[in-house]
Amino acid sequence: MRIWLDGGLRDPESARVSVFDHGLTVGDGIFETVKAVHGRPFALTRHLDRLTRSARGLGLPDPDHDEVREACAAVLEANPMPLGRLRITYTGGHGPLGSDRGEHGPTLVVALGETTRRPDTTAVITVPWTRNERGALTGLKTTSYAENVVALARAHEHRASEALFGNTVGQLCEGTGSNVFVVLDGEIHTPPVASGCLPGITRALTVEWTGAKETDLPLDVLRGADEVFLTSTLRDVQAVHRVDDRELPGTPGPVTAKAMRIFDERSGQDLDP
Ligand code: PLP
Repeated sequence: MRIWLDGGLRDPESARVSVFDHGLTVGDGIFETVKAVHGRPFALTRHLDRLTRSARGLGLPDPDHDEVREACAAVLEANPMPLGRLRITYTGGHGPLGSDRGEHGPTLVVALGETTRRPDTTAVITVPWTRNERGALTGLKTTSYAENVVALARAHEHRASEALFGNTVGQLCEGTGSNVFVVLDGEIHTPPVASGCLPGITRALTVEWTGAKETDLPLDVLRGADEVFLTSTLRDVQAVHRVDDRELPGTPGPVTAKAMRIFDERSGQDLDP
Protein backbone atom coordinates (compact mmCIF):
# COMPACT_ATOMS: atom_id res chain seq x y z
CA MET A 1 0.00 0.00 0.00
CA ARG A 2 1.34 3.42 -0.96
CA ILE A 3 -0.16 6.68 0.28
CA TRP A 4 0.33 10.32 -0.67
CA LEU A 5 1.88 12.76 1.79
CA ASP A 6 4.00 15.89 1.39
CA GLY A 7 3.80 15.96 -2.39
CA GLY A 8 4.64 12.35 -3.18
CA LEU A 9 3.92 8.66 -2.74
CA ARG A 10 5.22 7.03 0.45
CA ASP A 11 5.04 3.78 2.33
CA PRO A 12 2.63 4.33 5.23
CA GLU A 13 5.22 2.82 7.63
CA SER A 14 7.74 5.54 6.84
CA ALA A 15 5.31 8.44 6.31
CA ARG A 16 5.57 10.98 9.11
CA VAL A 17 3.01 13.53 10.29
CA SER A 18 3.84 15.78 13.26
CA VAL A 19 2.44 14.78 16.65
CA PHE A 20 1.51 18.48 16.89
CA ASP A 21 -0.58 18.36 13.72
CA HIS A 22 -3.85 20.06 14.54
CA GLY A 23 -5.75 17.30 12.82
CA LEU A 24 -4.55 15.10 15.69
CA THR A 25 -4.58 17.53 18.63
CA VAL A 26 -7.80 19.47 18.06
CA GLY A 27 -9.58 17.73 15.18
CA ASP A 28 -8.89 20.74 12.95
CA GLY A 29 -9.19 19.09 9.59
CA ILE A 30 -11.53 18.08 6.83
CA PHE A 31 -11.85 15.01 4.66
CA GLU A 32 -13.54 13.32 1.75
CA THR A 33 -14.25 9.66 1.06
CA VAL A 34 -14.38 8.96 -2.67
CA LYS A 35 -15.43 5.69 -4.26
CA ALA A 36 -13.04 4.35 -6.89
CA VAL A 37 -14.23 1.73 -9.36
CA HIS A 38 -11.38 -0.14 -11.06
CA GLY A 39 -9.03 2.75 -10.31
CA ARG A 40 -11.39 5.49 -11.45
CA PRO A 41 -12.79 7.92 -8.87
CA PHE A 42 -16.54 8.57 -8.85
CA ALA A 43 -17.85 12.18 -8.67
CA LEU A 44 -14.38 13.53 -7.86
CA THR A 45 -15.24 17.07 -9.00
CA ARG A 46 -18.13 17.24 -6.52
CA HIS A 47 -15.90 15.89 -3.75
CA LEU A 48 -13.23 18.49 -4.49
CA ASP A 49 -15.81 21.26 -4.46
CA ARG A 50 -17.10 20.08 -1.09
CA LEU A 51 -13.51 19.83 0.20
CA THR A 52 -13.03 23.49 -0.72
CA ARG A 53 -16.32 24.49 0.95
CA SER A 54 -15.29 22.62 4.09
CA ALA A 55 -11.82 24.27 4.01
CA ARG A 56 -13.38 27.72 3.72
CA GLY A 57 -15.78 26.95 6.55
CA LEU A 58 -12.82 26.14 8.80
CA GLY A 59 -10.70 29.02 7.51
CA LEU A 60 -8.10 26.68 5.99
CA PRO A 61 -6.40 27.68 2.72
CA ASP A 62 -8.17 26.38 -0.36
CA PRO A 63 -6.87 22.93 -1.25
CA ASP A 64 -5.09 22.79 -4.60
CA HIS A 65 -7.44 20.69 -6.74
CA ASP A 66 -4.69 19.83 -9.23
CA GLU A 67 -2.53 18.46 -6.43
CA VAL A 68 -5.40 16.48 -4.92
CA ARG A 69 -6.29 15.04 -8.34
CA GLU A 70 -2.64 14.12 -8.93
CA ALA A 71 -2.46 12.51 -5.48
CA CYS A 72 -5.64 10.48 -6.07
CA ALA A 73 -4.44 9.32 -9.49
CA ALA A 74 -1.03 8.33 -8.12
CA VAL A 75 -2.47 6.42 -5.17
CA LEU A 76 -4.99 4.64 -7.39
CA GLU A 77 -2.32 3.68 -9.89
CA ALA A 78 -0.01 2.37 -7.17
CA ASN A 79 -2.73 0.24 -5.53
CA PRO A 80 -4.92 -1.47 -8.13
CA MET A 81 -8.18 -2.89 -6.78
CA PRO A 82 -11.72 -3.43 -8.10
CA LEU A 83 -13.53 -1.26 -5.54
CA GLY A 84 -11.69 1.19 -3.35
CA ARG A 85 -12.36 4.05 -0.96
CA LEU A 86 -10.03 6.99 -1.35
CA ARG A 87 -9.60 8.96 1.82
CA ILE A 88 -8.49 12.57 1.33
CA THR A 89 -7.52 14.20 4.62
CA TYR A 90 -6.54 17.88 4.83
CA THR A 91 -5.66 19.31 8.22
CA GLY A 92 -4.63 22.60 9.78
CA GLY A 93 -1.09 21.20 9.95
CA HIS A 94 1.62 21.43 12.58
CA GLY A 95 0.74 24.07 15.21
CA PRO A 96 1.07 25.11 18.86
CA LEU A 97 -0.63 23.13 21.63
CA GLY A 98 -4.00 24.79 21.94
CA SER A 99 -6.44 26.04 19.36
CA ASP A 100 -4.44 28.80 17.64
CA ARG A 101 -3.15 27.72 14.26
CA GLY A 102 0.57 27.81 13.65
CA GLU A 103 2.47 29.18 10.72
CA HIS A 104 2.83 25.83 8.99
CA GLY A 105 0.72 25.06 5.99
CA PRO A 106 -1.90 22.31 5.90
CA THR A 107 -1.18 18.60 5.72
CA LEU A 108 -2.62 16.62 2.81
CA VAL A 109 -2.83 12.84 3.02
CA VAL A 110 -4.47 10.60 0.42
CA ALA A 111 -4.88 6.93 1.26
CA LEU A 112 -6.85 4.08 -0.26
CA GLY A 113 -8.61 1.11 1.27
CA GLU A 114 -10.23 -1.83 -0.46
CA THR A 115 -13.97 -2.13 0.03
CA THR A 116 -16.87 -4.27 -1.12
CA ARG A 117 -20.34 -3.50 -2.34
CA ARG A 118 -22.72 -3.04 0.59
CA PRO A 119 -25.76 -5.32 1.03
CA ASP A 120 -28.96 -4.09 -0.61
CA THR A 121 -30.76 -3.75 2.72
CA THR A 122 -29.74 -2.87 6.24
CA ALA A 123 -31.02 -2.10 9.74
CA VAL A 124 -30.75 1.29 11.47
CA ILE A 125 -31.41 2.69 14.92
CA THR A 126 -32.27 6.19 16.08
CA VAL A 127 -30.12 7.74 18.79
CA PRO A 128 -31.13 10.28 21.46
CA TRP A 129 -28.26 12.66 20.62
CA THR A 130 -28.88 15.59 18.30
CA ARG A 131 -27.24 17.22 15.34
CA ASN A 132 -26.86 20.98 15.73
CA GLU A 133 -28.40 22.61 12.70
CA ARG A 134 -26.84 26.00 13.56
CA GLY A 135 -23.26 25.19 14.60
CA ALA A 136 -20.06 26.67 13.20
CA LEU A 137 -19.26 23.28 11.64
CA THR A 138 -22.73 22.37 10.43
CA GLY A 139 -22.62 20.99 6.90
CA LEU A 140 -18.81 20.77 6.83
CA LYS A 141 -17.05 17.44 6.46
CA THR A 142 -14.61 17.85 9.31
CA THR A 143 -12.45 15.19 10.91
CA SER A 144 -14.27 15.77 14.24
CA TYR A 145 -16.19 12.49 13.98
CA ALA A 146 -16.04 11.20 17.55
CA GLU A 147 -19.79 11.60 18.06
CA ASN A 148 -20.35 9.49 14.95
CA VAL A 149 -17.98 6.85 16.29
CA VAL A 150 -20.01 6.63 19.52
CA ALA A 151 -23.35 6.49 17.68
CA LEU A 152 -22.12 3.87 15.23
CA ALA A 153 -20.90 1.67 18.08
CA ARG A 154 -24.42 1.94 19.58
CA ALA A 155 -25.87 0.86 16.22
CA HIS A 156 -23.60 -2.17 16.10
CA GLU A 157 -24.73 -3.18 19.60
CA HIS A 158 -28.25 -3.36 18.15
CA ARG A 159 -27.19 -5.33 15.06
CA ALA A 160 -27.70 -2.26 12.90
CA SER A 161 -25.25 -0.67 10.48
CA GLU A 162 -26.24 2.95 10.94
CA ALA A 163 -27.49 5.34 13.61
CA LEU A 164 -29.82 8.18 12.68
CA PHE A 165 -29.86 11.57 14.40
CA GLY A 166 -32.60 14.15 14.79
CA ASN A 167 -31.66 17.81 15.16
CA THR A 168 -32.23 20.17 18.10
CA VAL A 169 -35.83 20.88 17.03
CA GLY A 170 -36.82 17.23 16.70
CA GLN A 171 -36.54 16.92 12.94
CA LEU A 172 -35.01 14.00 11.13
CA CYS A 173 -31.44 14.84 10.08
CA GLU A 174 -28.97 12.16 8.93
CA GLY A 175 -26.89 9.14 9.87
CA THR A 176 -23.32 8.95 11.14
CA GLY A 177 -22.06 8.58 7.57
CA SER A 178 -25.15 8.70 5.38
CA ASN A 179 -28.20 10.74 4.43
CA VAL A 180 -31.70 9.42 4.94
CA PHE A 181 -34.74 9.30 2.67
CA VAL A 182 -38.32 8.25 3.39
CA VAL A 183 -41.16 7.30 1.08
CA LEU A 184 -44.59 8.72 1.98
CA ASP A 185 -47.59 8.04 -0.26
CA GLY A 186 -45.29 7.06 -3.12
CA GLU A 187 -43.19 10.25 -2.93
CA ILE A 188 -39.55 10.38 -1.86
CA HIS A 189 -38.53 12.94 0.77
CA THR A 190 -35.22 13.80 2.41
CA PRO A 191 -34.42 16.40 5.08
CA PRO A 192 -33.15 19.73 3.69
CA VAL A 193 -29.55 20.78 4.28
CA ALA A 194 -30.96 23.33 6.78
CA SER A 195 -31.77 20.35 9.04
CA GLY A 196 -28.03 20.25 9.77
CA CYS A 197 -27.15 17.25 7.62
CA LEU A 198 -24.04 16.99 5.53
CA PRO A 199 -24.81 17.90 1.91
CA GLY A 200 -24.10 14.37 0.75
CA ILE A 201 -22.99 13.88 -2.82
CA THR A 202 -25.01 10.68 -3.18
CA ARG A 203 -27.95 12.56 -1.66
CA ALA A 204 -27.63 15.36 -4.25
CA LEU A 205 -27.42 12.89 -7.14
CA THR A 206 -30.40 10.94 -5.79
CA VAL A 207 -32.46 14.13 -5.50
CA GLU A 208 -31.49 15.09 -9.07
CA TRP A 209 -32.10 11.67 -10.55
CA THR A 210 -35.32 10.68 -8.72
CA GLY A 211 -36.97 14.05 -8.14
CA ALA A 212 -37.01 13.44 -4.36
CA LYS A 213 -38.31 16.42 -2.39
CA GLU A 214 -36.41 18.19 0.37
CA THR A 215 -38.87 18.35 3.25
CA ASP A 216 -38.73 19.11 6.97
CA LEU A 217 -39.71 15.81 8.58
CA PRO A 218 -40.26 15.01 12.26
CA LEU A 219 -37.93 12.30 13.58
CA ASP A 220 -40.92 10.04 14.23
CA VAL A 221 -41.75 9.97 10.51
CA LEU A 222 -39.60 6.84 10.63
CA ARG A 223 -42.32 5.06 12.62
CA GLY A 224 -44.87 5.40 9.81
CA ALA A 225 -42.89 5.78 6.57
CA ASP A 226 -43.76 3.28 3.86
CA GLU A 227 -40.10 2.88 2.90
CA VAL A 228 -36.80 4.20 4.21
CA PHE A 229 -33.42 4.27 2.53
CA LEU A 230 -29.92 5.61 3.05
CA THR A 231 -27.47 7.18 0.64
CA SER A 232 -23.71 7.55 0.90
CA THR A 233 -20.57 7.18 -1.14
CA LEU A 234 -19.99 3.65 0.11
CA ARG A 235 -23.62 2.52 0.40
CA ASP A 236 -24.92 4.12 -2.83
CA VAL A 237 -28.70 3.77 -2.32
CA GLN A 238 -29.38 1.20 0.40
CA ALA A 239 -32.84 0.11 1.55
CA VAL A 240 -33.64 -0.05 5.29
CA HIS A 241 -35.49 -3.14 6.51
CA ARG A 242 -35.57 -2.26 10.23
CA VAL A 243 -35.73 1.02 12.12
CA ASP A 244 -35.25 0.43 15.85
CA ASP A 245 -37.81 -2.33 16.58
CA ARG A 246 -39.93 -1.65 13.51
CA GLU A 247 -39.54 -4.17 10.70
CA LEU A 248 -40.36 -3.02 7.17
CA PRO A 249 -41.47 -6.18 5.37
CA GLY A 250 -40.94 -6.40 1.64
CA THR A 251 -37.78 -4.27 1.68
CA PRO A 252 -36.68 -2.91 -0.72
CA GLY A 253 -40.13 -1.52 -1.47
CA PRO A 254 -41.00 -0.55 -5.03
CA VAL A 255 -40.02 3.12 -4.80
CA THR A 256 -36.68 2.37 -3.18
CA ALA A 257 -35.97 -0.44 -5.64
CA LYS A 258 -36.53 2.02 -8.49
CA ALA A 259 -34.23 4.61 -6.86
CA MET A 260 -31.54 1.92 -6.46
CA ARG A 261 -31.87 0.97 -10.12
CA ILE A 262 -31.74 4.57 -11.32
CA PHE A 263 -28.68 5.27 -9.19
CA ASP A 264 -26.85 2.16 -10.40
CA GLU A 265 -27.57 2.92 -14.03
CA ARG A 266 -26.79 6.63 -13.96
CA SER A 267 -23.67 6.34 -11.80
CA GLY A 268 -22.34 3.53 -13.98
CA GLN A 269 -22.68 5.68 -17.10
CA ASP A 270 -20.87 8.74 -15.79
CA LEU A 271 -17.99 8.57 -13.33
CA ASP A 272 -17.93 12.33 -12.83
CA PRO A 273 -21.60 13.33 -12.78
N1 PLP B 1 -23.60 12.44 6.38
C1 PLP B 1 -22.43 12.26 7.01
C2 PLP B 1 -22.27 12.71 8.42
C3 PLP B 1 -21.36 11.66 6.32
O1 PLP B 1 -20.19 11.48 6.94
C4 PLP B 1 -21.55 11.22 5.00
C5 PLP B 1 -20.47 10.58 4.25
O2 PLP B 1 -19.47 10.20 4.77
C6 PLP B 1 -22.79 11.42 4.40
C7 PLP B 1 -23.79 12.04 5.11
C8 PLP B 1 -23.03 10.96 2.97
O3 PLP B 1 -22.34 11.79 2.07
P1 PLP B 1 -21.78 11.27 0.67
O4 PLP B 1 -22.96 10.81 -0.11
O5 PLP B 1 -21.14 12.48 0.08
O6 PLP B 1 -20.84 10.16 0.96
